[in-house]
Amino acid sequence: METEWTILTEIAQDDTGRFVEVPFTVPDGIAQIRIRIAVVPNEGGPCTIDVGLRDPVRVRGWSGSAKYDLVVGPDEATPGYAKGDILPGQWAVLLGVYVVGRAGANVTAEIRLVQSARQWLKGDLHVHTVHSDGVYTLAELDRIARGLQLDFIGLTDHNTISQNYSYSRETPVTYIPAMEFTTYRGHANLFGIADPCDDFRVQSADDVASILTEAKRRGSRVSINHPFDEGGPSCRWQWGYDHAFDWLEVWNGPWRASNQQSLELWHSMLRAGRRVTGVGGSDTHREHPYVRHGNPTTHVYAKSRTVGHILSAIHEGCVTMSCCPDGPRLELRAPDATMGGTSRRRSFDIVLTAAEPGDQIVLLSEMGEVKRYTVLQSGDFAAQGEHEAKRFLRAELWRYFPQANGQLMAALTNPVFMHEAAT
Ligand SMILES: [Zn+2]
Repeated sequence: METEWTILTEIAQDDTGRFVEVPFTVPDGIAQIRIRIAVVPNEGGPCTIDVGLRDPVRVRGWSGSAKYDLVVGPDEATPGYAKGDILPGQWAVLLGVYVVGRAGANVTAEIRLVQSARQWLKGDLHVHTVHSDGVYTLAELDRIARGLQLDFIGLTDHNTISQNYSYSRETPVTYIPAMEFTTYRGHANLFGIADPCDDFRVQSADDVASILTEAKRRGSRVSINHPFDEGGPSCRWQWGYDHAFDWLEVWNGPWRASNQQSLELWHSMLRAGRRVTGVGGSDTHREHPYVRHGNPTTHVYAKSRTVGHILSAIHEGCVTMSCCPDGPRLELRAPDATMGGTSRRRSFDIVLTAAEPGDQIVLLSEMGEVKRYTVLQSGDFAAQGEHEAKRFLRAELWRYFPQANGQLMAALTNPVFMHEAAT
C-alpha cells in the first residue's frame, strides 16, 4: 500500500539564504519514504535550491542541489541520508534557498509513503568470535552467515563489546550488537545496543540485578541463556528468575537434556502466566560436528531488517525456532492472533514446511499435551482444530535423527496466548 501526494511551494527572492520547511505527516507503519523534488524558476534566470530532510527528531540528511530523488527507509537510503526506522510524526522536506531570481521559483515535492509489510527473517542469536573465545573473525562469520542465508546474527561475545564496533555495515546480514554477560554462576545475553554494561564483574544477586536493570535502562533486551547447561561449572543460571529479564534461551545448540529442562522451565513460567519469549542460539565458538551456526535457527516475523524491528518482533513473541537454517518451520496461529498474540477464539491452525514422514507434531497447553499429529508425507503439512486451553497453546515438532539414534526437537513455536473470555 502506498500513499502519494504533491506539495507546491512558492519561493520568493526574499527567501534567499533561508531554509524553508515543507512539512508532512507520517503515520505509524511506514517502511519507506520516497521524495522527488522539481524546481521551476519563474521567467528562467538563475536558481539553485538545496534539498534535505528532517524527521521528527533531527535532520535526517542533506543532498544540496546534487540529488532531488530521495529514498529513506530502514534497509536503504540515498547516500547523504541515514538509513533507519521511519518514525511516525511531523517530517519536513528542507529547501535551502541558495540562489533565486527576482521572479522567484516554484518547487514541487512529490512524496510517496510505502507501508511496511512484515516478513519472516531467520538468524542465530548466540555466536562467539575472536573478540572472545571463538575462532571466527567477523569477516569469516559474515561469509558463513551469508552462505547459510541468515538474515541476522547476535554478536554475543563474553563480557566484551569490541565486536559491536568492528562488524561490517556493508553486508545484507543484520548484526545485533550484544554481549554475553558471563558470570561464574550463569550467563545472560544483552541484545540491541553496543554498550550495555560498563563492568561485568559481579559477586552477588544484587550486583546481577543492577547490571540487568542498567542494561535494560540503556535499551537492551535480556535473555537468560542455557539455564541448565552442564558445559562448565559457570554455565547453569543460578541467580534466580526474579530479575529484569525478557527472554529465555530454551534451545541452545544441539537438542539435549539441558534444553529439555529449559523447555520445562519455560513451560512452567508460561503456565504461571508469565509472558517470556523463547529464543534459540547455537553458541558456536569453533568447528564442531553438531554445534554449528544456525543450529538452531530463530525465525522472527519483523517489520523490517533493522535491529530495532527484529528485537521488537522477538519481544512480541512472533518467533518460531527450527533445528537448522533450511530445516522445518512450524507455525501456530489462531484466527485472530499470531504467536505472541492473544486469541479469543477456540480454534487453531498448524502450518509446517519442510516436513518429513514420521515427524510428530505435539500441541501443548497449560494442561500439557493436547493433541498429536504424525506427518505421512514430505513437504508442507497443515492441520486445524479446536482447543480448550485457558492460558496458552504452543507446538513442538519431534523428528527421528539417525545420528542421535532417537527423536530430537526439530522445531518449536512460541505460544499463542488465550484471553480468559475465549469462545
Ligand atoms: Zn554462555
